[in-house]
Amino acid sequence: MRHLNTLTPKRQLGLAIALSSLLLSSPAQASPAATNASNANSSSPRVWISLGDAAYQALQKLPRLKARSETSVAALASGPAPANSSGAVLEREAALEQVHLVEVDEGGLADLSEAVHESLRRCGGYLFHASKEEGLRSLQRLSRPTPALLAASKPSYVIDQQALVTPMLSQMQASNIGQTILDLSAFTNRYYTSSSGVAASNWLKTRWSNLAAGRSDITVEQFSHPAWAQKSVIATFKGTDNASEVVVLGAHLDSIAGANTGESTRAPGADDDASGVASLTEIIRSLVASNFKPRRTLKFMAYAAEEVGLRGSQEIAKSFAAMNANVVGVIQLDMTNYKGAINDIYLFTDYTDAGQNQFLTQLIQTYLPTLKIGSDRCGYACSDHASWNAQGYATSMPFESSFAADNPYIHSANDTYANSGNQADHSLKFARMALAYAVELGADGPAVTPPADKTETFSGSLTLNQTRSFGPFKLKAGGTLKASSSGTGDIDLFVKKGAPASSSSYDCKSDGSTASESCSVNSTANTDVYVLLKGYTAGSYKLTVSYTPQ
Ligand SMILES: [Zn+2]
Repeated sequence: MRHLNTLTPKRQLGLAIALSSLLLSSPAQASPAATNASNANSSSPRVWISLGDAAYQALQKLPRLKARSETSVAALASGPAPANSSGAVLEREAALEQVHLVEVDEGGLADLSEAVHESLRRCGGYLFHASKEEGLRSLQRLSRPTPALLAASKPSYVIDQQALVTPMLSQMQASNIGQTILDLSAFTNRYYTSSSGVAASNWLKTRWSNLAAGRSDITVEQFSHPAWAQKSVIATFKGTDNASEVVVLGAHLDSIAGANTGESTRAPGADDDASGVASLTEIIRSLVASNFKPRRTLKFMAYAAEEVGLRGSQEIAKSFAAMNANVVGVIQLDMTNYKGAINDIYLFTDYTDAGQNQFLTQLIQTYLPTLKIGSDRCGYACSDHASWNAQGYATSMPFESSFAADNPYIHSANDTYANSGNQADHSLKFARMALAYAVELGADGPAVTPPADKTETFSGSLTLNQTRSFGPFKLKAGGTLKASSSGTGDIDLFVKKGAPASSSSYDCKSDGSTASESCSVNSTANTDVYVLLKGYTAGSYKLTVSYTPQ
């Protein structure tokens, strides 16, 4: 059993399934009656958690947890393993690690978080399950390859929104991220059951709502969790014409400092994970400042209760799966502001999607070409992306350092902005990468096939220097869009692909001395086209936009 990963993938799969079916009838399992009897004698409710081998070893050192009935399966990788030092890539779907289902005292869970942090320097590290049955279902899913039915939702991962993304990246500011980190770490702690943890959730809802003020297509809501007080916060940019496809950008709101985090325990969580929430906040600000309206729906999520078994994100991901939500991509920012290793951004290859990770690599190479990219593994249930991965969705987890060289101050009173050097330059890299991800995925919709020579016309009047904008008009790859004007006065015409046109920013202009102007643009990729008319003398005009497909 210790050499599972030397088996071929096919035999591996068979063995994993055999293991999980054995579980259901194993005499080693406590019967429901026995479980109830032991519960009756316990001072603390018994709960179920699943955890990887390394965290399981940490658990064994904690007699207070009184871990009982245990079983395990071999988790299958959802993507290729990273190349080893000799350059060989391990076989796809080889076993990642052994994952164990364990019954423990709920009161001892904080001890486990502490032990996982102490021995593994890991933020999450286990999944909480409300029942044994739920835990078994979760383990059984792990031993199967990702369901094929979601493959239909895979985006094209084409990078074609430079006109929108590049100006947004240049106006993002590390100082804004730093201020949000300071604001969040000013709460005594953001523990999932504490009053300051609740206050931090309310504060963030207000902050995001203020950023979205004036945009009726953006809503900011709190997601309530029945078993604890802290609510997750979700900001939604509703897609214009492809709203049923959803892109999720996440970070976790809660913080922790040791086994007995309580009302007055100081847990600033500046890096873990105010830095992730602050990065999302700067993305929201930048998208609104640029008046970006996505075609797909974008959802920004600050999860409650990550540090105690990914509980907030699990409830949210399960609710989305239950609604058959078409989530086409998930990215998690958990710890972004401590540069502990040589590369700038490390992409974790386990419990993530290889295709989406490759897309992120290309986004970094396109938009942030000076950054160095690394890869590593993070292990089972390492952060909230694992909750989405468990439901079959494509996830990525870009991290601040190699796994072994992350911030040494997390989960203590010392996880402060000062101990990240009073700067947010490292976080800004992640915020820019994630904004590019949001815009490139958000700007996509179903291919538009305009009918041949389709014509749209608008009529109105303009005075001197008065402008009027039109669009976006959908232009399919290979097609041509022609805008032409006629009328009584003198009008100038500007046309731009990918962003609203102005008299100083355009791909094509026509500024003769009459009202008869025309401009054509073509494109090698699907894009949006915007038209601007600007009056030179007062007059009435007519604009005609016509398409010619390839
Ligand atoms: Zn974290």
